[in-house]
Amino acid sequence: MNDLIIVGAGIAGMTASVYASRYKINHLVIGEIPGGQGTLAGRVENYPGYLSIPGPELMQKLIEQVKQSGVKIKQDKVGGLAKIKGGFEVKTTKEKFQTKTLILAMGAVYRHLNIPGEEKFLGKGVSYCTTCDIPLFRDKVVAIAGGGDSAVTGALHAASFAQKVYIIHRRDEFRAEPGWVEKVRKVKKIEEVLSNQVEEIKGKEKVEEIILANSYQGNQSLKVDGVFIEIGQVPSFTLAAGLKVELDGGNYVKVKPTMETNIAGVFAAGDLAAIQGGILFRQFITAASDGARAAASVYQYLHKGAIPAPAWGQQS
Ligand code: NAP
Repeated sequence: MNDLIIVGAGIAGMTASVYASRYKINHLVIGEIPGGQGTLAGRVENYPGYLSIPGPELMQKLIEQVKQSGVKIKQDKVGGLAKIKGGFEVKTTKEKFQTKTLILAMGAVYRHLNIPGEEKFLGKGVSYCTTCDIPLFRDKVVAIAGGGDSAVTGALHAASFAQKVYIIHRRDEFRAEPGWVEKVRKVKKIEEVLSNQVEEIKGKEKVEEIILANSYQGNQSLKVDGVFIEIGQVPSFTLAAGLKVELDGGNYVKVKPTMETNIAGVFAAGDLAAIQGGILFRQFITAASDGARAAASVYQYLHKGAIPAPAWGQQS
């Protein structure tokens, strides 16, 4: 039986592995995409120690760090988790594993606008990942829906390929980090369409036009070749729910500051986890921090029994 299985190979899971290795915890990482969503990120400019680094490069360094400790990264989909005597069973598409503890780090998936044309034109002009698909829109006109860091960093990245970039946000101010917004405002080919929403995506074979909720400069529609939907994510909670791990109202796994869930031996980290009493802050650095703390807590759990309450008071 493994001491630990980490489900999810993104920055949270991989950092948990780096720390688990240092704690000499016998473990395995199972994930569909080594590097997870980090491999889709554009430039990362807020990870300590790097002025600016492409997401895939940062993740590659982390994968190498994990492999250097001799840890196996199983590239597979986990289909089910179950409680067994003394631990848990992890079923993938090909194999079954047993483990004393689990760190759930499955992250999140893209949120959809759920508007007409969105599904029909997926891959024909509609994308949920600007970083991945913008090279296909060189010298074209694109719209990015959203107002958070993904939309704004996506717009900056898009501007180095597209002829024109509309960023369409439902409110009159961005949610994104002010530093990114300031950068966007210096790029002439990025046009902000605020207090507006994409209501429909139209075209024949591929995207040709978007219909707006409110008229913009006298027009109810914009001619575009591509629509990038960057409106956040929803947690990948299904496996956790199957194990009866407690979720909050947004379907995030509820964790204590120690990353413990309501089930003894099950910990969660990264975009899937919500530290009770904390703020939902989704960054590479916070996911990495969650992973490190989850591994430290697994060590405590395996070697010292109950995790002691922090000195400053009771855990929630
Ligand atoms: P986010 O921060 O949740 O922002 C989602 C944006 O989409 C919000 O502006 C929201 O509008 C809008 N939105 C949500 N549902 C919508 C709908 N149905 N129709 C229209 N608009 C909708 O998501 P994110 O930008 O993907 O970022 C996710 C996390 O990753 C965040 O914590 C972010 O900081 C982090 N991230 C960081 C970086 C970085 O470089 N620092 C880069 C990418 C992502 P409202 O503002 O009105 O709610």
